[in-house]
Amino acid sequence: MRMIDPHIHMTSRTTDDYAAMAAAGIAAVVEPAFWLGQPRTRVGTFEDYFLSLIGWERFRASQFGIRHFCTIALNPKEANQQPLADEVIALLPRYLEKDGVVAVGEIGYDDVTAAEEKAFERQIALAREHDLPVLVHTPHRDKKRGTERSLDLVRAAGFPVERVLIDHNNEETLPGVLDSGCWAGHSIYPNTKMDEQRMVALVKKFGVERIIINSAADWGVSDPLKVPKTAAAFRDAGIAATDIEIVVWRNPIAFFSTSGRMDLRDLEAQPGIDQRELWEGNSVLRGQAPRVGR
Ligand SMILES: [Zn+2]
Repeated sequence: MRMIDPHIHMTSRTTDDYAAMAAAGIAAVVEPAFWLGQPRTRVGTFEDYFLSLIGWERFRASQFGIRHFCTIALNPKEANQQPLADEVIALLPRYLEKDGVVAVGEIGYDDVTAAEEKAFERQIALAREHDLPVLVHTPHRDKKRGTERSLDLVRAAGFPVERVLIDHNNEETLPGVLDSGCWAGHSIYPNTKMDEQRMVALVKKFGVERIIINSAADWGVSDPLKVPKTAAAFRDAGIAATDIEIVVWRNPIAFFSTSGRMDLRDLEAQPGIDQRELWEGNSVLRGQAPRVGR
């Protein structure tokens, strides 16, 4: 079964991960712009990061037969750093125009501060101006309240709920997100947040409409194969193959294709691999024979 991992930070992952993901059926990824584990000190490092998301990382994925899309934003954590936050937001319009950018994200709350709220509102306005959907991160601490507040902000902004993906849901937040009309993402993590069996229970209880799963794998303890592993858990639990396909393929494509930059038919045509290709003179190979074909 073809799958998409609609929230994964591939910049932090290895070529072995790309190879294992492709072998497990992952045909495409969405890489949201986020923080790097420590605060950036100048706007230029944000700019180089955005350039790598639409450039080198996209090329790197293609070398393993995986299509790469990204979302661009000032992340909630770094929204608290002034005046840098304003400089980054001023930079965004240029990047929201680029090919392969399928949403504004991750935006939202981290510590639920006034600065985060301001950045959240300003970036929702940017999404409207650029006719893009938004990917909303929800806080790890006090998640229920943070999620409700995010939904309130989206409603107050009058942003169309069908173009909002609220991410990192759990049993507590999912009912409210589904009621709101927004899409609901779930990050399947080793040990924390959400796991395969809890996700099976959620799909059995709530169905598959507007339900999305991802690995949210990054530089921390995480697993880039959590989408295929959860699909296997769905199958073992007797969930119909058509429903599994809706969660791991059709839903994320339906959501992100409203950007006009992700196309189902294009995704269904399996891309070829040509590891002889170079990106600005650089290759992913270290002297190995290049793989060419499918
Ligand atoms: Zn993330």
